[in-house]
Amino acid sequence: MAGGWSRDGAVQEQIDASIEDAVKHARQQLPSGKGLTHCEECECEIPKARRDAVPGVRLCVSCQQTIDEKQKFSNAVNRRGSKDSQLR
Ligand SMILES: [Zn+2]
Repeated sequence: MAGGWSRDGAVQEQIDASIEDAVKHARQQLPSGKGLTHCEECECEIPKARRDAVPGVRLCVSCQQTIDEKQKFSNAVNRRGSKDSQLR
């Protein structure tokens, strides 16, 4: 039997304990509060599929995209890429 001198029971207890820790940790990682049914920005309804896919979602797809774009833009401000010339 594999394991030799190690006590199977003790090993199993350790595994159970670490799973419990992982579950506790995962619960702490969840966004506090439920997601919104209506967008925080434009108050349009957030589709259920999106709410299911994004726990704690607060924005509709288009507002989220707008914010993503803004973030992309501000990240790109210090870069001189080919995009600059396309915009002119
Ligand atoms: Zn919105």
